[in-house]
Amino acid sequence: MKIFTEHQQEVAETLRKTASKSDWTDWKWHIRHAIKSVDDFERVLGVTFPEKRKRIFERTLRKFPMAVTPYYLSLIDPDDYENDPIFHQSFPSADELSIGRYDMTDPLHEDEDSPVPGITHRYPDRVLFHVSNVCSMYCRHCTRKRKVGDVDSVPSRADLEQGLEYIRNTPQIRDVLLSGGDPLMLSDEKLDWILTKVGEIEHVDVIRIGTRMPVVLPYRITEDLVEMLKKHHPLWINTHFNHPRELTASSRKALRRLADAGIPLGNQSVLLSGVNDCQRLIKTLNQKLVKNRVRPYYLYQCDLSEGLTHFRTPIGKGIEIIESLRGHTSGFAVPTYVVDAPGGGGKIPVMPNYIVSWGPNKVVLRNYEGVITTYNEPESYEPNYCDRECANCNLQLKEEDAEEKAIGIEKLLSDWDDTTSLTPENNERLDRRDDAA
Ligand SMILES: *Cc1c(COP(=O)(O)O)cnc(C)c1O
Repeated sequence: MKIFTEHQQEVAETLRKTASKSDWTDWKWHIRHAIKSVDDFERVLGVTFPEKRKRIFERTLRKFPMAVTPYYLSLIDPDDYENDPIFHQSFPSADELSIGRYDMTDPLHEDEDSPVPGITHRYPDRVLFHVSNVCSMYCRHCTRKRKVGDVDSVPSRADLEQGLEYIRNTPQIRDVLLSGGDPLMLSDEKLDWILTKVGEIEHVDVIRIGTRMPVVLPYRITEDLVEMLKKHHPLWINTHFNHPRELTASSRKALRRLADAGIPLGNQSVLLSGVNDCQRLIKTLNQKLVKNRVRPYYLYQCDLSEGLTHFRTPIGKGIEIIESLRGHTSGFAVPTYVVDAPGGGGKIPVMPNYIVSWGPNKVVLRNYEGVITTYNEPESYEPNYCDRECANCNLQLKEEDAEEKAIGIEKLLSDWDDTTSLTPENNERLDRRDDAA
């Protein structure tokens, strides 16, 4: 493989004959010089696509635009770009135009779970706050592909005020995820303002930022940025590495800066056919992440967004990957594998089955080696009867607002609620009952 720094200089020089070293580490330079056309891509990478393929690429770009930072592009191996994981994540494929039967423009119904522009409120106690409509690079596997390149702008303070107002008026929200686009596309000043405003809201306990900058443009993680971020603790950052090749010296330096500022780091990968659908690859990725103080958080099943069909694997592939991680490597190097429910149900964890069988007194379990074992249930166990009066409970949860209401399966399991079943809408049997009445 090429030595990245040399190759980076080559790329930089192709882009602009005089690209100096200081240009190369200036994140704004990369945004100004993002590669957006097939011609530029060919020129910078030093490859030539066959004329016919080129026309198909250009057609794809008219539907789903391209943008790649020179930095990220410089990680592609020009001699084997057809198999290159960076290439697949950044360069269009003709397959994006074939819309599968089950594909949707907004599979997660984010637009429907949006009480005010910029907010997705799906779970009881946390919201997504879309503070930027842009990214430094457009991932080909983006779940929000429908929006990519739509509005190339960052929201104004007035736009953001609506979201802030919603969070202020919704006391259940204790966790705010700044998302986008990429929040780190905002200037330090704007981000500082948002973090200050969100931080001032009393019921907000934590703020998280979801960003791919450490992967696609690590020079964004400047000392100034980090100095600003660390004023806003407790602040968490989740990033998005998909392949071990992405953990370059520059990326590792960016992660080190963030971790040194006391920011807990997590990683969300997406399982992508032809990019990372391999047990050993994901294990290597996760081991390298923890070595850089990043905790693998989620491994996502690829969403049913339009234009992603060629990236999708069966769910079985993900289960197989978890099977080869759990027990085989550090527990904190094992992410939770999730399917984001089409229709907006949120993330559903999926994993191998470890319970083999179950009787009244014993549970039969198996471990990662296939060893089958029995766990004897306690002979006497007195569960605490729960009426949700925490103040009178001997378990001493003396928190003031410990009494949020139970929903879903939690409610079915509870002592204090008489609900015995949950029935999906449009149940035909109940419709017949209504008709008879
Ligand atoms: C993923 C997601 C969250 C955060 O979920 P966690 O499991 O808490 O990380 C919140 N809101 C929406 C809409 C999401 O998609």
